[in-house]
Amino acid sequence: MRILITGAAGFVGSHLSDRFLAEGHEVIGMDNLITGSMNNIAHLFGHKRFSFVKHNVYHYIYVDGPLDAVLHFASPASPNDYLEHPIPTLKVGSIGTMNTLGLAKAKGARYLLASTSEVYGDPQINPQPETYWGHVNPIGPRGVYDEAKRFAEAMTLAYHRYHGVDTRIVRIFNTYGPRMRLHDGRVVPNFIYQALTGQPLTVYMDGKQTRSFQYVSDLVEGIHRLLHSDEVLPVNIGNPAEMTILEFAEAVVELTNSQSEIVFVQPDDERITDDPKVRQPDITKARQILGWEPQVTLSDGLAQTIAYFRDKV
Ligand code: UDP
Repeated sequence: MRILITGAAGFVGSHLSDRFLAEGHEVIGMDNLITGSMNNIAHLFGHKRFSFVKHNVYHYIYVDGPLDAVLHFASPASPNDYLEHPIPTLKVGSIGTMNTLGLAKAKGARYLLASTSEVYGDPQINPQPETYWGHVNPIGPRGVYDEAKRFAEAMTLAYHRYHGVDTRIVRIFNTYGPRMRLHDGRVVPNFIYQALTGQPLTVYMDGKQTRSFQYVSDLVEGIHRLLHSDEVLPVNIGNPAEMTILEFAEAVVELTNSQSEIVFVQPDDERITDDPKVRQPDITKARQILGWEPQVTLSDGLAQTIAYFRDKV
């Protein structure tokens, strides 16, 4: 296959590029490098089946030659990043999705949209199945991401229903692993950085809010299976092992053998506005139609991630 991956210099996009190259496919990586980094794909330069184009996908996209698949992974994805880049976040999810769908249509390529558990907002049911419509504040600080991704899903299904584009939608839950940015503001790099440098781990609010963390290799496997399946409607890919943020802080302290203390802080800013109180994927559908479930335990995945960050601090 000849595959376009937008956001290829990002955390997930770069791992996806590795996977498809390893299988013998040709990958064209595209990224505007707002939050992506060339360091994530430096090892691919010189690879004869990899090429890179620096481009904003919310401007017209030109790709020479045939394409078999378009994987749209470009977007800021950390709350800090979309607070800092609200308009690019809205544009890449809306106009960028439209442009990449238009490209897939023109090339007759299969299309896969990276969506998110944020489409469920601050959910009123837990765990969240794909049939849940969500509980999103459109005008809060997270709205720029949540609504762009909800629009992207609507646009993807419209291209499928109206133009017959062969589409897939993955709803990605919290994912961690090597190549996350040390200072992207998310809880995984924040806590690991704090633990490795002997600083207090900053648990926001009372730490009773929950998340469910999946290791990046599990996500890549789920996306790969979804792309090769015939499921058009969204599929959750995440690890259902839910824990509180306080429990997560304790796990990081233990696995890093850190002397850091855990402190409760109350950021008086937008970082905690509309912060979902619970989040856990219902992965019944992925189990049934993809035969997929996560394989990597939190301690194994965190060990890999901590080793990566040790070299960065
Ligand atoms: N969080 C925290 N301390 C930090 C960073 C994040 O307690 O230093 C909390 C945050 O309030 C949220 C959870 O960790 O409840 C996950 O935040 P993250 O930014 O990783 O992503 P989200 O799942 O909210 O998109």
